[in-house]
Amino acid sequence: MPTDEIRDTSEITLPGIAASPGIAHGQVFLHVQNDLELPAHDIDPAQRGEETARFERALIATRLQVQRTKAEVEKNLGADEARIFDAHLLVLEDQALISETLRELETSGHNIERCFHRVAQRYIAAFETIEDEYLRERAGDIRDVAQRLLQNLLGQAAQSLGELAKGRVVVAGDITPSEAAGLDRSEALAIVTDTGSKTSHAVIVARSMRVPAVVGARDLTKRVRNGDWVLVDGYEGKVILHPAEQTLFRYGKIRLEKKNIELRLLEASRQPAVTLDGVTVALRANIEQAGETKLVQEFHGDGVGLFRTEFLFLSAPRVPSEDEQYAAYRAAAETLAPAPVVIRTLDLGGDKPMPGGAHLFARESNPFLGHRAIRFCLDQPAIFKDQLRAILRASAHGKVRLMYPMISGREELARANAVLAECRAELTAKGVAFDATMPVGTMIEIPSAALTADLLAQDCEFFSVGTNDLIQYLLAIDRVNDRIAHLYEPTHPAVIRTLRHIVTEAHRFGRKVSVCGEMAGDPVYAALLLGLGVDELSMTPPLLPAVKFAVRAMTLADARQLAEDTLKLTSAKESQSLCENFYRARVKVE
Ligand code: PEP
Ligand code: MG
Repeated sequence: MPTDEIRDTSEITLPGIAASPGIAHGQVFLHVQNDLELPAHDIDPAQRGEETARFERALIATRLQVQRTKAEVEKNLGADEARIFDAHLLVLEDQALISETLRELETSGHNIERCFHRVAQRYIAAFETIEDEYLRERAGDIRDVAQRLLQNLLGQAAQSLGELAKGRVVVAGDITPSEAAGLDRSEALAIVTDTGSKTSHAVIVARSMRVPAVVGARDLTKRVRNGDWVLVDGYEGKVILHPAEQTLFRYGKIRLEKKNIELRLLEASRQPAVTLDGVTVALRANIEQAGETKLVQEFHGDGVGLFRTEFLFLSAPRVPSEDEQYAAYRAAAETLAPAPVVIRTLDLGGDKPMPGGAHLFARESNPFLGHRAIRFCLDQPAIFKDQLRAILRASAHGKVRLMYPMISGREELARANAVLAECRAELTAKGVAFDATMPVGTMIEIPSAALTADLLAQDCEFFSVGTNDLIQYLLAIDRVNDRIAHLYEPTHPAVIRTLRHIVTEAHRFGRKVSVCGEMAGDPVYAALLLGLGVDELSMTPPLLPAVKFAVRAMTLADARQLAEDTLKLTSAKESQSLCENFYRARVKVE
């Protein structure tokens, strides 16, 4: 008897980690990521004709897909962005690549997938060693197209996750940041993953898309099937499989209550972010794409405190040019002027490898401790300088600030600043306009940077504390590992003491401190951060109203007392309770 017929479909509640608020009810789209497994077998000379015909059909199918994607990108992002697909079409028309594959088929006696893969790998290796940067980048195009073509040869759908997720609850082992970037316009109902944590980048994207998400649902992918009905509770971190009528009814009421609260908060967020004792606090937004400036306005953010520029790179098949980047940065700066836009230079690597950049990033056993962010940029001056020039040029069109991620100490900051000085000189020599007074800051997210805050404060104009990474490195807790997520404690005494140290040193040198990690978007921690002396908070736009509400319900004097009290405590749990009690005693959304 097929197992389908005896399958138990009674309601089951599975716990996970609440990652993005909201409730969704819908059918599952099970997203399975597996590397292409290439069949390898010998073929009979009589089968060569059929193998050649399969190859030709796959070439045509791939060409059509690339043309379709190109047209879509052109419509959504413009002709410049779409031009990169011309390079993909050229690869598919490359006579040398095609005839070499057919020669391989004749001489090796192997199946066509194996022959094409072998020839494509030879091409990629040859392009990767070329001095000329433009030609070297063609290796990425060949890799991308070869992958699509092999998928077509194997009869696998090459649709993007975004297309497949529409109107569904996406259930996956994990979602890479580049897949998350592709989910942007997908209208997915919710996202649930077996692994991950509140600060993994796919979750950060889900929050800014206002898509409910639950992570760390362990073996959910093994328990559900495509088309199963599930209810996702992104507030409490629960997934209810095969929900019963009463459960749906109960959640319908919860959804209505939560919606009402969100509307009240949004309404209240038209008011300025001023504490009860009259102190104005800058509440800014974190964005991943220039288009998200619409959200910043919708949620009344005071500009952007963190523009994660790597998402421009994650959603593109290859490194975006200086002009492409300039257009995005300028659009954000112009839209939000006179409010500031803090543009962070590239933070690729770690949990954000670039799909089209496999030639730039080696496999690493400890990616979070590896060749990421500023380390990568300083080793790739051409890529870094393109970005710095693009940011400088955008600074002529608004209030742009620039900051470097993952700075570990003064020498690294000096090296980055030296490259920036070169870019300034180049633009000046060409008579290109930029804001010569554009403030330059550094993120504090590595313990060594926190401990040398006094030195860094002398070489930059502001700090932005990336608590997602800072907590990960201070407590040695992998930020995307759900098994140790309970040990990831923002109120650990080491975190509170480190924050105090950073603020004290920054203020000693007249520098302002912002916090732009996820901790800044949790209203429960607003008083602690402000009480420790943090000047600005930056968060995913939909979280702005709740944090503003908390700011408007407290006095800075009380917040300072709270911070002093937590500094005397010895455990994360005690400080957490103190923050929660402080919040509950003041914040009441009726
Ligand atoms: C952080 O580490 O807190 C941060 C804001 O940067 P990201 O989450 O992009 O690593
Ligand atoms: Mg970081």
